[in-house]
Formats: sequence, C-alpha cells, structure tokens
Amino acid sequence: MKKISRSINNSDVNRFRRLVQIILFALFIYGGWLAVDISTYMPTFSCPFVESRGGTCYLFPLQHQINISFPQILSRRGIGLATGFIIFVLLFLPFNKSWCGFACPLGTVQDWISRVRTRLGIRYSQYARATSGRLGWIKYTLLALLLILPLSMSNSWFGLPLLSHDFATPYCMVCPGRTVLPLFSADASQLTVDFSSTPKMVLSTLGMAVTGLFFVGAFVKKRFFCLFCPMSALLYLLSKIGFLRLNKLGENCTRCGNCLRACDMGIHGIADDINHKNMITDDCMMCFKCVSACPEDDCLSVDLFKLPLYKSTTQGYFTRMEKRSAHDR
Ligand code: SF4
Ligand code: SF4
Ligand code: SF4
Repeated sequence: MKKISRSINNSDVNRFRRLVQIILFALFIYGGWLAVDISTYMPTFSCPFVESRGGTCYLFPLQHQINISFPQILSRRGIGLATGFIIFVLLFLPFNKSWCGFACPLGTVQDWISRVRTRLGIRYSQYARATSGRLGWIKYTLLALLLILPLSMSNSWFGLPLLSHDFATPYCMVCPGRTVLPLFSADASQLTVDFSSTPKMVLSTLGMAVTGLFFVGAFVKKRFFCLFCPMSALLYLLSKIGFLRLNKLGENCTRCGNCLRACDMGIHGIADDINHKNMITDDCMMCFKCVSACPEDDCLSVDLFKLPLYKSTTQGYFTRMEKRSAHDR
C-alpha cells in the first residue's frame, strides 16, 4: 500500500489531467455519435448546442425549469426543478470543483490555447490579488441574472410586465460554449447574430462579443473566462459539501510560493494562507498543480472522505523535477 501511495505522490498530476481532459472532451463533444449520453445535468459546460454531444450542461435545463410561477413551485413543475437540482448535486459531490480542472470542455479549450502561447514562448498576464478580488463579483452577478431573468417570464416583480420568452435561456445566448464548442463538430451555425427580435439581437450580439473576448482573453491570460464563469460560482457555493477536498497543513508551509507560480488561476491564498485547512476558493478549478509543485512533505493534499489520494512530498517534488529536466535536455 505504501509503495502505491509513494508512486502516486511521485507522479505528475498535470500529465494525468491532460489525458483525462482529452478523453472527457471527446466524450462530451462526440459521445452522441456513439450513443453515449452521460446526463442532462452535467456540473460543467457540455453544450446542448453541440449536436453530437454526450452530455448537457445543467445551466441549460436550469434556465428552462426556473421559468416557473411561484404558486407552481409546489406542483409537478416544481418537483421537476427540485429533482434536476438533486441530480446535479449528486453528480457534483464526488468530484467537487475538479469538474473545472479535469472535465469542462471550455476549460480544456482554454488550456489548449495557453499551450499554443507557451510553445510560442510568449509570457502570460497575471492579475494582482486586488484585481482578481474586484473581478470576483461578475460571476455571481451572471449567476443571479441567469436565474432572475427566466423567473421574470412567469412572475411579475413590483407590478412590472412579464419578460418576453426571448429570455428563456439568457445565459446560453452569451456563453462562449454555444459558439465555440460546436466548431469542434464542424458546425459554425451559432456564430451569427439573431435578428428575429430585439432581445435576441442584443443577446446574440453580446454572445459574439464574448466569443471574441474568450479567444483573446485565453491567449493573454490562462483560464481567463473561468474568472467570470457562473458555473464556477454555482460549484463554489456547493463546494463545502463536496467529498473531494484540497487541504493544507499550514505548519508545514515555508511560503516558498512554488504553488502560486504553478497555479493557472493565480490564487494567492494557496501560498499565503497558513491558517485555513480548506484551500478551495471560488476561482480554484481543483487542477492540483499546486500539490505537484509543493516541495514540503504533507503540506498540500487532495483528500477524498479525509483519505489522502495525492499529497505533496519532498521526494515527489524532486522526482518530477528530475523527469522534467531529463525531458528538456
Ligand atoms: S470555471 Fe472554467 S472550467 Fe469551470 S465550468 Fe466555468 S468555464 Fe468550465
Ligand atoms: S509550495 Fe508548499 S511550502 Fe511553498 S508556499 Fe506553497 S504550500 Fe507553502
Ligand atoms: S489553487 Fe491549486 S488546485 Fe486550485 S487552481 Fe490553483 S493550482 Fe489548481
């Protein structure tokens, strides 16, 4: 048992992650061709606008299901809404936010764009801690709008008229998943402005602008879109009940900063915070690159039900360093 855990701790989680990302990307984008459909309630982007998809992002059914009047909440429609949420939570629980680091197709595309930039030898932008903090509210605002707009199609607020049905899936209209992911099945039909009504025109124009920002942003800053993602906000709100955890033993931390330098999201707390055990923040995608980069025994660990699956060790750190320098030679 000790041998197995030593060889896991000596491994490079990022190589494993890249492999899982490729497999899941193929499943989410092309699974439909193999008659694979994992679920309609995926805790990550698996876009319903991809014809050949093998699973659907939960934000799509959620926006449809939340178009419900308050008196209907106790009806069959309300039960449907609650059931959908329970299935989503059940899928989320074992993996927590690692859906972002390992599974989300939109996250994977951003990582591929970053690799192109690395190959070209261009440095990345980093945000100061205060800037990341200031941007943090955007994803929560998007999450609130995603719920409030469809809800306003069935409920009048303060005597205001009901919202038009063109707001049925407002977030999908601006999400880069809708425009970018179908491109991988040779479908560019979403790259257009919908002139059928004013709301659709405004939303689809915004969607095109966000798509442009997605590509430019991901080239300039690693995981740029993830900073604004409402799915990340929703997953973070549930993260405390997730079974998979990223934990830190502050007394073993020397504040060397290796973990922060490895972190694509630039999360300062992973290096600076020596007082808290739980290291999952709203921007953390649970990629575990920080654990690989930490040279201190038992300082950072990935735990499932309090059982360590992968943890930082001095031996693991130097083993990875040696392998990397042999690879670069
Ligand atoms: S935060 Fe990034 S990886 Fe996570 S769901 Fe959003 S786009 Fe995908
Ligand atoms: S790499 Fe490890 S020891 Fe260094 S700052 Fe991060 S957690 Fe602390
Ligand atoms: S804190 Fe660690 S697990 Fe979270 S995004 Fe940064 S490197 Fe990945």
